[in-house]
Amino acid sequence: MTTRDRDYQVLIVGGGHAGAQAAVALRQHKFAGTLAIISAEPELPYERPPLSKEYLSGDKPFERLLLRPKSYWEERDVTMHLGQTVVSVDAEKHEVRTAAGETIGYRHLIWATGGAPRRLSCAGAELAGVHGVRTRADVDRMIAELPGTERAVVIGGGYIGLEAAAVLAKMGKQVTLLEALPRVLARVAGPDLSAFYEREHRAHGVDLRTGVAVDCIEGSGGRATGVRLADGSILPADMIVVGIGIVPAVEPLLAAGAAGGNGVEVDAYCRTTLSDVYAIGDIAAHANDFAGGDRIRLESVQNANDMAMVAARTLVASGPDEASPYHAVPWFWSNQYDLKLQTVGWSTGHDDAVTRGDPATRSFSVVYLKQGRVVALDCVNAARDYVQGRALVVAGASADRALLADASVPLKDLAGRPEN
Ligand code: FAD
Repeated sequence: MTTRDRDYQVLIVGGGHAGAQAAVALRQHKFAGTLAIISAEPELPYERPPLSKEYLSGDKPFERLLLRPKSYWEERDVTMHLGQTVVSVDAEKHEVRTAAGETIGYRHLIWATGGAPRRLSCAGAELAGVHGVRTRADVDRMIAELPGTERAVVIGGGYIGLEAAAVLAKMGKQVTLLEALPRVLARVAGPDLSAFYEREHRAHGVDLRTGVAVDCIEGSGGRATGVRLADGSILPADMIVVGIGIVPAVEPLLAAGAAGGNGVEVDAYCRTTLSDVYAIGDIAAHANDFAGGDRIRLESVQNANDMAMVAARTLVASGPDEASPYHAVPWFWSNQYDLKLQTVGWSTGHDDAVTRGDPATRSFSVVYLKQGRVVALDCVNAARDYVQGRALVVAGASADRALLADASVPLKDLAGRPEN
């Protein structure tokens, strides 16, 4: 018989958006059993999106990032084990082991560990001055280096890289952004949106280069001094920011036998293939209705929150009728300069795109279609389109191209034409 240090009816591993929301939802659903969050970071659960936006720029202090005040967790009897990492799971014994050597038992386990920033695989990737952007600690290290930074190189033209570039450019730093693909945001948006953001960044002084391969990070005395490109040229830099995606933090769960690879496979109720083990948030590879049933991972606050609610509801349900499967429309936002991008739906695999409004006015939308149906929208400073277009995505509506392109026709007038 093993001796456990602790036991909880529900143990949540990971205190980010998904883990915190799971605890909130469980208590909201009147779950009265013992409940704990164990999380590698030392902070109480906090919002991650501001890290590459208002927190990096200094416009929002950390205290305003907390998802709930300390008293909230205390009053609801959610035990916090912070600064502790789970290194293994024994699914049969229903227990986990921490890096500090503690064994913690569970009746139900919710795995909500997000991911670590993907690192460059080239020489110099580990040098000081090379930053990933995932945690408060990552961004605090960047902030500490800002006074000594004149030249910054951002590697990766996804949302996080672009947001960081925007903040640094606004601070007056000389920013170079390197994207390996022929355009920025290539994996998540159509060419019109990419071209718009490329123009905006250049207009704000960013030296934005696409189709560029990084050879290695140059360094001296353990510190990065620049980026060497495949063509042999060197970009001197005081700070290097790497935004090239995440590696889902799922090793302990996969080692315990859960099905998965790039994330952990879950069913529509966020259940993994291990009994009594759920997985939610960035790590959860699920069949998504809006992606045509394909198994995908979504990296967004929306997905983290919605999955947390599905898992909590399933866990407290006394019968199958009380649980409800995950069927949330994906949505996301990104702030760069004075541009607020709101996206809804899943544009991957679209076969047509219609631009509404003139991008030169800095307020427009792109409507993505697949086989004549609206599958997604990207709305730049166009909140009305975003709000109204959501119904088109949810209904999988077919709409006339000319009407979609006419920004004077409200999208709500085009709703109500569901396709079967
Ligand atoms: P996380 O929030 O990453 O939480 C996981 C937690 O688990 C972390 O605290 C981690 O340390 C901990 N952990 C990992 N492994 C272990 C372990 N073995 N043991 C214990 N603890 C562990 N989304 C949007 O919708 N809009 C945005 O504008 C946006 N901007 C973003 C900007 C940045 C800089 C970043 C990094 C993300 C952004 N996102 C945005 C994405 C969003 O923040 C994530 O999708 C969301 O945080 C996912 O929640 P999660 O709980 O799955 O993971």
